[in-house]
Amino acid sequence: MKVFRTISEMQSYSKSLHKDGKTIGFVPTMGYLHKGHLSLVKKAKEQTDAVVVSIFVNPTQFEPGSDLNRYPRDEKGDIDKLESNGVSAVFIPTVKEMYPEGYQTYVEVTELTKNLCGRFRPGHFKGVTTVVLKLFNIVQPDKAYFGKKDYQQFRVIERMCRDLNINVQIVPCPIVREKDGLAMSSRNIYLSKEERKDATIIHRAIEKGKKMILENERDAKKVIETMEKMIREKKTLKKIDYISIVDLHTLKDVSFIDSDVLIAVAAYFGSARLIDNAEVILNADYDA
Ligand code: AMP
Repeated sequence: MKVFRTISEMQSYSKSLHKDGKTIGFVPTMGYLHKGHLSLVKKAKEQTDAVVVSIFVNPTQFEPGSDLNRYPRDEKGDIDKLESNGVSAVFIPTVKEMYPEGYQTYVEVTELTKNLCGRFRPGHFKGVTTVVLKLFNIVQPDKAYFGKKDYQQFRVIERMCRDLNINVQIVPCPIVREKDGLAMSSRNIYLSKEERKDATIIHRAIEKGKKMILENERDAKKVIETMEKMIREKKTLKKIDYISIVDLHTLKDVSFIDSDVLIAVAAYFGSARLIDNAEVILNADYDA
Protein backbone atom coordinates (compact mmCIF):
# COMPACT_ATOMS: atom_id res chain seq x y z
CA MET A 1 0.00 0.00 0.00
CA LYS A 2 1.30 3.40 -0.93
CA VAL A 3 1.28 6.26 1.58
CA PHE A 4 1.23 9.73 0.04
CA ARG A 5 1.58 12.96 1.97
CA THR A 6 1.77 15.46 -0.88
CA ILE A 7 -0.88 16.50 -3.40
CA SER A 8 1.48 16.09 -6.35
CA GLU A 9 2.38 12.46 -5.44
CA MET A 10 -1.29 11.59 -4.99
CA GLN A 11 -2.31 13.26 -8.26
CA SER A 12 0.35 11.51 -10.31
CA TYR A 13 -0.57 8.12 -8.82
CA SER A 14 -4.24 8.67 -9.78
CA LYS A 15 -3.20 9.78 -13.24
CA SER A 16 -1.17 6.58 -13.71
CA LEU A 17 -4.10 4.41 -12.55
CA HIS A 18 -6.42 6.10 -15.05
CA LYS A 19 -3.80 5.74 -17.78
CA ASP A 20 -3.81 1.99 -17.13
CA GLY A 21 -7.60 1.97 -17.52
CA LYS A 22 -8.25 1.39 -13.79
CA THR A 23 -11.23 2.83 -11.91
CA ILE A 24 -10.67 4.53 -8.56
CA GLY A 25 -12.93 4.18 -5.51
CA PHE A 26 -12.38 6.86 -2.88
CA VAL A 27 -13.18 6.86 0.84
CA PRO A 28 -12.57 10.21 2.57
CA THR A 29 -12.13 9.95 6.38
CA MET A 30 -10.79 11.81 9.39
CA GLY A 31 -9.00 8.68 10.62
CA TYR A 32 -9.21 6.76 13.90
CA LEU A 33 -10.75 4.10 11.75
CA HIS A 34 -13.41 1.62 12.85
CA LYS A 35 -15.61 -0.98 11.19
CA GLY A 36 -17.91 1.73 9.79
CA HIS A 37 -15.04 3.18 7.76
CA LEU A 38 -13.88 -0.29 6.74
CA SER A 39 -17.36 -1.15 5.43
CA LEU A 40 -16.97 1.71 2.95
CA VAL A 41 -13.56 0.37 1.94
CA LYS A 42 -15.10 -3.07 1.39
CA LYS A 43 -17.86 -1.65 -0.84
CA ALA A 44 -15.29 0.38 -2.79
CA LYS A 45 -13.17 -2.73 -3.31
CA GLU A 46 -16.16 -4.61 -4.69
CA GLN A 47 -17.00 -1.86 -7.16
CA THR A 48 -13.69 -0.38 -8.35
CA ASP A 49 -10.16 -1.48 -9.33
CA ALA A 50 -8.13 0.57 -6.84
CA VAL A 51 -9.23 2.00 -3.49
CA VAL A 52 -7.81 5.26 -2.17
CA VAL A 53 -8.53 6.37 1.42
CA SER A 54 -7.74 9.83 2.74
CA ILE A 55 -7.07 10.63 6.39
CA PHE A 56 -7.38 14.33 7.10
CA VAL A 57 -8.81 16.03 10.17
CA ASN A 58 -10.13 19.03 8.30
CA PRO A 59 -9.93 22.16 10.46
CA THR A 60 -12.36 24.18 8.30
CA GLN A 61 -15.28 21.91 9.22
CA PHE A 62 -14.81 22.28 12.98
CA GLU A 63 -16.69 25.28 14.30
CA PRO A 64 -14.92 27.37 16.99
CA GLY A 65 -15.03 25.70 20.40
CA SER A 66 -15.61 22.17 19.05
CA ASP A 67 -13.36 19.14 19.43
CA LEU A 68 -10.71 19.81 16.72
CA ASN A 69 -7.80 19.80 19.16
CA ARG A 70 -8.75 16.59 20.91
CA TYR A 71 -10.08 14.68 17.88
CA PRO A 72 -8.62 11.15 18.26
CA ARG A 73 -5.75 10.13 16.00
CA ASP A 74 -3.90 6.86 15.39
CA GLU A 75 -2.05 7.07 12.10
CA LYS A 76 -0.08 3.86 12.53
CA GLY A 77 -3.11 1.80 13.55
CA ASP A 78 -5.09 3.28 10.63
CA ILE A 79 -2.36 2.43 8.10
CA ASP A 80 -2.23 -1.18 9.38
CA LYS A 81 -6.01 -1.54 9.09
CA LEU A 82 -6.08 -0.12 5.56
CA GLU A 83 -3.18 -2.27 4.45
CA SER A 84 -4.85 -5.45 5.69
CA ASN A 85 -8.09 -4.43 3.97
CA GLY A 86 -6.49 -4.30 0.53
CA VAL A 87 -6.38 -0.53 0.05
CA SER A 88 -4.07 0.63 -2.80
CA ALA A 89 -3.11 4.04 -1.43
CA VAL A 90 -3.69 6.26 1.56
CA PHE A 91 -3.46 10.03 1.29
CA ILE A 92 -2.46 11.81 4.52
CA PRO A 93 -1.83 15.50 3.82
CA THR A 94 -0.87 18.12 6.41
CA VAL A 95 -3.11 21.13 7.03
CA LYS A 96 -0.49 23.33 5.32
CA GLU A 97 -0.50 21.12 2.24
CA MET A 98 -4.29 21.48 1.93
CA TYR A 99 -4.61 25.11 3.02
CA PRO A 100 -1.36 26.94 2.20
CA GLU A 101 -0.91 30.60 3.06
CA GLY A 102 -3.25 32.78 1.05
CA TYR A 103 -5.99 30.13 0.78
CA GLN A 104 -9.39 31.81 0.26
CA THR A 105 -11.76 29.68 -1.82
CA TYR A 106 -14.85 27.89 -0.44
CA VAL A 107 -17.81 25.95 -1.84
CA GLU A 108 -21.25 26.12 -0.26
CA VAL A 109 -24.48 24.17 -0.74
CA THR A 110 -27.03 26.68 0.46
CA GLU A 111 -30.39 24.97 1.17
CA LEU A 112 -29.66 21.41 2.28
CA THR A 113 -27.31 22.77 4.94
CA LYS A 114 -29.93 24.92 6.70
CA ASN A 115 -31.57 22.27 8.87
CA LEU A 116 -30.30 19.49 11.21
CA CYS A 117 -26.54 19.72 11.93
CA GLY A 118 -26.23 22.82 9.74
CA ARG A 119 -28.42 24.71 12.24
CA PHE A 120 -26.16 23.87 15.14
CA ARG A 121 -22.73 23.83 13.49
CA PRO A 122 -22.40 27.07 11.52
CA GLY A 123 -19.79 26.79 8.78
CA HIS A 124 -19.44 23.03 9.20
CA PHE A 125 -20.82 21.96 5.82
CA LYS A 126 -18.99 24.74 3.99
CA GLY A 127 -15.79 23.19 5.35
CA VAL A 128 -16.95 19.70 4.36
CA THR A 129 -17.90 20.55 0.77
CA THR A 130 -14.72 22.55 0.27
CA VAL A 131 -12.43 19.79 1.47
CA VAL A 132 -14.33 17.05 -0.37
CA LEU A 133 -14.17 18.97 -3.65
CA LYS A 134 -10.43 19.54 -3.11
CA LEU A 135 -9.95 15.83 -2.37
CA PHE A 136 -11.96 14.89 -5.47
CA ASN A 137 -9.69 17.12 -7.58
CA ILE A 138 -6.62 15.52 -6.04
CA VAL A 139 -7.71 11.85 -6.07
CA GLN A 140 -9.80 12.01 -9.28
CA PRO A 141 -12.10 9.14 -8.20
CA ASP A 142 -14.75 7.47 -10.35
CA LYS A 143 -16.84 6.66 -7.27
CA ALA A 144 -16.78 8.01 -3.72
CA TYR A 145 -18.23 6.27 -0.67
CA PHE A 146 -20.07 8.02 2.17
CA GLY A 147 -21.76 6.55 5.25
CA LYS A 148 -25.43 7.26 5.88
CA LYS A 149 -24.42 7.79 9.52
CA ASP A 150 -23.71 11.35 8.31
CA TYR A 151 -26.87 11.45 6.23
CA GLN A 152 -26.96 15.21 5.72
CA GLN A 153 -23.32 15.14 4.61
CA PHE A 154 -24.16 12.48 2.02
CA ARG A 155 -27.07 14.53 0.64
CA VAL A 156 -25.01 17.74 0.60
CA ILE A 157 -22.13 16.10 -1.30
CA GLU A 158 -24.58 14.47 -3.72
CA ARG A 159 -26.10 17.92 -4.37
CA MET A 160 -22.70 19.58 -4.82
CA CYS A 161 -21.73 16.99 -7.44
CA ARG A 162 -24.99 17.46 -9.32
CA ASP A 163 -24.88 21.26 -9.17
CA LEU A 164 -21.21 21.62 -10.13
CA ASN A 165 -21.18 18.80 -12.70
CA ILE A 166 -18.57 16.84 -10.79
CA ASN A 167 -18.14 13.53 -12.50
CA VAL A 168 -17.94 11.36 -9.38
CA GLN A 169 -20.62 8.82 -8.50
CA ILE A 170 -21.61 9.15 -4.85
CA VAL A 171 -22.33 5.80 -3.23
CA PRO A 172 -24.21 5.90 0.12
CA CYS A 173 -23.45 3.04 2.55
CA PRO A 174 -25.46 1.66 5.51
CA ILE A 175 -24.75 2.62 9.12
CA VAL A 176 -22.54 0.11 10.96
CA ARG A 177 -23.46 -0.38 14.62
CA GLU A 178 -22.06 -1.89 17.79
CA LYS A 179 -23.87 -5.01 19.05
CA ASP A 180 -26.06 -2.89 21.36
CA GLY A 181 -27.14 -0.60 18.51
CA LEU A 182 -24.88 2.42 19.09
CA ALA A 183 -23.71 3.77 15.74
CA MET A 184 -19.95 3.35 15.41
CA SER A 185 -18.10 6.66 15.56
CA SER A 186 -14.56 7.84 16.24
CA ARG A 187 -16.15 10.14 18.84
CA ASN A 188 -17.47 7.21 20.94
CA ILE A 189 -14.01 7.16 22.54
CA TYR A 190 -15.03 10.32 24.47
CA LEU A 191 -17.79 8.41 26.31
CA SER A 192 -17.38 7.20 29.91
CA LYS A 193 -18.74 3.75 30.71
CA GLU A 194 -22.04 5.15 31.96
CA GLU A 195 -22.42 7.61 29.07
CA ARG A 196 -21.64 4.81 26.62
CA LYS A 197 -24.46 2.72 28.11
CA ASP A 198 -26.94 5.62 28.16
CA ALA A 199 -26.08 6.60 24.57
CA THR A 200 -27.69 3.42 23.24
CA ILE A 201 -31.04 5.13 23.87
CA ILE A 202 -30.52 7.20 20.69
CA HIS A 203 -30.87 4.18 18.42
CA ARG A 204 -33.70 2.70 20.52
CA ALA A 205 -35.63 5.99 20.38
CA ILE A 206 -35.15 6.21 16.62
CA GLU A 207 -36.37 2.62 16.21
CA LYS A 208 -39.42 3.43 18.37
CA GLY A 209 -40.15 6.49 16.20
CA LYS A 210 -39.81 4.40 13.06
CA LYS A 211 -42.20 1.79 14.44
CA MET A 212 -44.78 4.45 15.31
CA ILE A 213 -44.68 5.84 11.76
CA LEU A 214 -44.84 2.42 10.14
CA GLU A 215 -47.83 1.63 12.37
CA ASN A 216 -49.54 4.68 10.89
CA GLU A 217 -48.78 7.56 13.22
CA ARG A 218 -48.74 10.55 10.87
CA ASP A 219 -48.19 13.38 13.35
CA ALA A 220 -44.44 14.11 13.50
CA LYS A 221 -44.85 16.05 16.75
CA LYS A 222 -46.25 13.00 18.54
CA VAL A 223 -43.41 10.79 17.33
CA ILE A 224 -40.79 13.36 18.35
CA GLU A 225 -42.38 13.80 21.81
CA THR A 226 -42.25 10.05 22.45
CA MET A 227 -38.61 9.89 21.36
CA GLU A 228 -37.66 12.92 23.41
CA LYS A 229 -39.21 11.44 26.55
CA MET A 230 -37.15 8.26 26.11
CA ILE A 231 -33.89 10.16 25.58
CA ARG A 232 -34.44 12.64 28.43
CA GLU A 233 -34.73 9.78 30.93
CA LYS A 234 -31.00 9.12 30.68
CA LYS A 235 -28.94 10.65 33.47
CA THR A 236 -25.79 11.38 31.45
CA LEU A 237 -27.65 13.20 28.66
CA LYS A 238 -26.22 16.70 28.53
CA LYS A 239 -28.11 18.34 25.69
CA ILE A 240 -30.31 17.50 22.73
CA ASP A 241 -29.47 19.54 19.60
CA TYR A 242 -32.38 18.13 17.63
CA ILE A 243 -34.83 15.28 17.20
CA SER A 244 -36.20 15.83 13.69
CA ILE A 245 -38.38 14.19 11.12
CA VAL A 246 -37.45 15.51 7.69
CA ASP A 247 -38.11 14.87 4.04
CA LEU A 248 -35.60 12.30 2.79
CA HIS A 249 -34.46 14.49 -0.10
CA THR A 250 -34.92 18.14 0.92
CA LEU A 251 -34.13 17.51 4.62
CA LYS A 252 -36.86 20.02 5.52
CA ASP A 253 -39.01 19.41 8.61
CA VAL A 254 -42.20 17.46 8.00
CA SER A 255 -45.24 17.87 10.26
CA PHE A 256 -47.70 15.50 8.57
CA ILE A 257 -45.89 12.33 7.49
CA ASP A 258 -47.20 11.27 4.10
CA SER A 259 -43.96 10.45 2.27
CA ASP A 260 -40.59 8.85 2.98
CA VAL A 261 -38.79 10.57 5.83
CA LEU A 262 -35.57 10.56 7.80
CA ILE A 263 -35.66 10.47 11.59
CA ALA A 264 -32.50 12.18 12.80
CA VAL A 265 -31.08 12.87 16.25
CA ALA A 266 -28.09 14.83 17.55
CA ALA A 267 -27.45 14.74 21.30
CA TYR A 268 -24.60 15.17 23.74
CA PHE A 269 -23.80 12.45 26.24
CA GLY A 270 -21.13 13.96 28.46
CA SER A 271 -18.94 15.93 26.08
CA ALA A 272 -19.54 13.69 23.05
CA ARG A 273 -21.87 14.99 20.38
CA LEU A 274 -23.50 11.91 18.85
CA ILE A 275 -25.64 11.72 15.72
CA ASP A 276 -27.76 8.90 14.35
CA ASN A 277 -30.69 8.47 11.99
CA ALA A 278 -32.96 6.06 10.13
CA GLU A 279 -34.77 6.27 6.84
CA VAL A 280 -38.47 5.44 7.01
CA ILE A 281 -39.79 4.17 3.70
CA LEU A 282 -43.57 4.27 3.87
CA ASN A 283 -44.68 1.68 1.38
CA ALA A 284 -41.95 -0.89 2.08
CA ASP A 285 -42.92 -4.14 3.80
CA TYR A 286 -42.37 -3.85 7.51
CA ASP A 287 -41.45 -6.64 9.91
CA ALA A 288 -42.33 -5.36 13.37
P1 AMP B 1 -15.36 10.41 9.51
O1 AMP B 1 -13.99 9.82 9.67
O2 AMP B 1 -16.15 10.41 10.78
O3 AMP B 1 -15.33 11.74 8.80
O4 AMP B 1 -16.16 9.42 8.55
C1 AMP B 1 -15.68 9.09 7.28
C2 AMP B 1 -16.75 8.36 6.52
O5 AMP B 1 -17.12 7.17 7.22
C3 AMP B 1 -18.03 9.18 6.35
O6 AMP B 1 -18.58 8.95 5.06
C4 AMP B 1 -18.93 8.62 7.43
O7 AMP B 1 -20.30 8.75 7.16
C5 AMP B 1 -18.52 7.16 7.41
N1 AMP B 1 -18.87 6.51 8.69
C6 AMP B 1 -18.53 6.91 9.93
N2 AMP B 1 -19.11 6.11 10.85
C7 AMP B 1 -19.85 5.21 10.18
C8 AMP B 1 -20.70 4.12 10.56
N3 AMP B 1 -20.91 3.80 11.83
N4 AMP B 1 -21.31 3.41 9.59
C9 AMP B 1 -21.12 3.73 8.28
N5 AMP B 1 -20.34 4.73 7.85
C10 AMP B 1 -19.71 5.48 8.79
